[in-house]
Amino acid sequence: MRSLHIEEQRPYRPEWPHGVLPDAELRRTGWRPEPFRQFVLKVHSRCNLSCTYCYVYHQADQGWRAQPAAMSRRTVAATAARVADHARRHGLSEVQVVLHGGEPLLAGADLLDHLVTVFQCAAPTGTHVSFSLQTNAVLLDERMLDLCLGHGIRVGVSVDGGVEHHNRRRVRRNGTESLADTQGGLARLTSERFSAAFGGLLCVIDLESDPVEVYESLLAWRPPAVDFLLPHGNWLARPPGRVADERDTPYADWLAALFDRWYSAPEHETDLRLFDEIIALLLGGRSRVETVGLTPSTVVVVETDGSIEQVDALKSAYHGAASTGLHVNRDDFDAALHHPGIVARQIGAAALGEECARCPVHQVCGGGYYPHRYRPGTGFRNRSVYCPDLFDLIMHIGNRIRADLDRARHRTG
Ligand code: SF4
Repeated sequence: MRSLHIEEQRPYRPEWPHGVLPDAELRRTGWRPEPFRQFVLKVHSRCNLSCTYCYVYHQADQGWRAQPAAMSRRTVAATAARVADHARRHGLSEVQVVLHGGEPLLAGADLLDHLVTVFQCAAPTGTHVSFSLQTNAVLLDERMLDLCLGHGIRVGVSVDGGVEHHNRRRVRRNGTESLADTQGGLARLTSERFSAAFGGLLCVIDLESDPVEVYESLLAWRPPAVDFLLPHGNWLARPPGRVADERDTPYADWLAALFDRWYSAPEHETDLRLFDEIIALLLGGRSRVETVGLTPSTVVVVETDGSIEQVDALKSAYHGAASTGLHVNRDDFDAALHHPGIVARQIGAAALGEECARCPVHQVCGGGYYPHRYRPGTGFRNRSVYCPDLFDLIMHIGNRIRADLDRARHRTG
């Protein structure tokens, strides 16, 4: 029944990896799945904003409409028990719980307090549970911040930079601007009393903005880290500005200008995750994120109704793309480790299409973020729709790093 549920929601079949990726064959080669380490909990499925690029409300999957608004205490208890069981079974010394939505603060301080307490009580001895929260900051009041500080919840805030860019895209459902409220929440979070809870900022790239201006406006909040995200899209629904002519690399150009500003700063201003990861990979390390590199993804999502899902950016591909057909009331997380979509995100280079396998930067690029590879008919075994941008950006960063290393070698030699 489970696989039927998945099949029914897919527009074309079979599309890689569904019904095509041989989990059993992989196991015969000695491959074993990695246990999940990051659990993204959709504690509230609605949002008090309606950002124009949001993959939850404005892209292919409209599954949020069928979800209960908030996660029930029963689902919280069932999820905490499953996470604890997974940690115990795999001997995990740490698991990360990300409070997500929609807008997680709509769940209210009482439910969030209850959730964290239940997870902490359920955790087996020897497993540390760390909590983070991703919010638009509109409801980030002192009560919420006291709760975050008290429980050690790291708060990440989504904000699009300068006034004009933020207010054009991050709007309320009635179309009105939201920056003033986000700034209020950010001011409280970054105040001396609460700044220990500040985890960083997240900004979705807008090609119409100036990258240096956006970066410097974000820097004003003194974030410990900034995450710049490519807008979600794929070969069926191209991201804004990602035209078919592959000589155009608008996202690489935008990010290269940002990289030059960040990398050339006289002192380290903030961690910039995409660049940190690319540099680590260029130097032969591993990435800690799924957006670049070939490191197995260990992220799983639990929806407000308790459904176990894959990474929710897949919702940008087609309706039901993130579904596994599993539920915390019936299934443990190990069952999800056998789902073709999860396996595909754990097998590194074996999941790449032919073009990526031949590409000289595939160890760094990793074929791009998995949801961005979708093409009807061939599913997710394609290069990223951002391929030309990723290639150029990696070359740009590589050239800067190489030049610096050469200079350092000459100085010491
Ligand atoms: S740059 Fe393009 S071809 Fe190369 S690994 Fe990335 S997506 Fe694949």
